[in-house]
Amino acid sequence: MLFKEKLKTVLLRTGALRPRQWMLPQSVLILAYHSIAADWKKQSDYINRGITTDADRFKEQMCILRKEYNPVTLDEIAGWLRGIRLLPPRSVAVTFDDGFADNYYIAAPIMEQYDIRGTVYLTVDAVQRQELPWFCRTAFLFQQAGIRKTVLTDTETKRTWNLENPAENREAFIYYSYPCAKLVGEELRNYIEKLETWFDFRLDRNNIQGMMTFEQARELRQRGHIIGNHTFSHSNLAHIPQELLYREIAEANEILEQELEEAVEHFSYPHPCLEPQWNNATLAETEKLNYKTAVLTTSGLVTRRSLSLLLPRIMISNPNNKEFRWKLETALAGIQT
Ligand SMILES: [Zn+2]
Repeated sequence: MLFKEKLKTVLLRTGALRPRQWMLPQSVLILAYHSIAADWKKQSDYINRGITTDADRFKEQMCILRKEYNPVTLDEIAGWLRGIRLLPPRSVAVTFDDGFADNYYIAAPIMEQYDIRGTVYLTVDAVQRQELPWFCRTAFLFQQAGIRKTVLTDTETKRTWNLENPAENREAFIYYSYPCAKLVGEELRNYIEKLETWFDFRLDRNNIQGMMTFEQARELRQRGHIIGNHTFSHSNLAHIPQELLYREIAEANEILEQELEEAVEHFSYPHPCLEPQWNNATLAETEKLNYKTAVLTTSGLVTRRSLSLLLPRIMISNPNNKEFRWKLETALAGIQT
């Protein structure tokens, strides 16, 4: 382990991965963040540990991007993919899924210090209701139930989980997340509310920084950031009835365009828990809307041959500087880590 870490440090310091990068066709990276927290411990409790990045680390990462890479926007990447513009080597775009308020309060001002503009994908129903997306609410519910030593018995199957036990908690969490990922709109909201009533617990909305408002999104846009669509309900699109795709993608887009008073040209696939993230029907729906880009959570680099409506990204969840550089350098060298 220690040897592996030392080797990483040496490879990064000496730039030993660079020759491999020069041999490959030009590629760009799209980084995928979610929440940026001033108080990581508190915020990652209710937003979810795996998707929360500490604000100080984020600032260091933006400084690294400005000094060692070339920050670009998704519009520029879209132009490059269409062959109508060039991009400098080591181009990197910054994106944020879900639409958390901290993207407005914390991430955007930091990025602007380094003259970087990002893309924020809004979960439309969550923004409209100013309520965290369902996967944050369920994760919080199970985490608190573990602390409260809840024993859960499913009324239909009679299965029992002791939520104080991390493995059983995880199993129960996944068991109840799968149905959520296949529901949309009111049905999904009712299911989550039923879970909260069942657990006799819910997130205190007054005590947290939740979703950004449409007004804040409009302001970000005026400051040069891009606002994209992250669907209406944040379901797994490949697992919902096909007739609901229109509502989840096109109608959500329409609401966004009305609120922002401008065209919304970029899309991000939600990926709460089920595979795959997309299928031919979802792809057709995004084609109809003429999106410039659609991004996935699949890990990888973007090349000129990438399909603009199925772009891979590099997931970032609170790495330190060395891990951050390692992630970007190995990705650019085409190495899966
Ligand atoms: Zn999401």
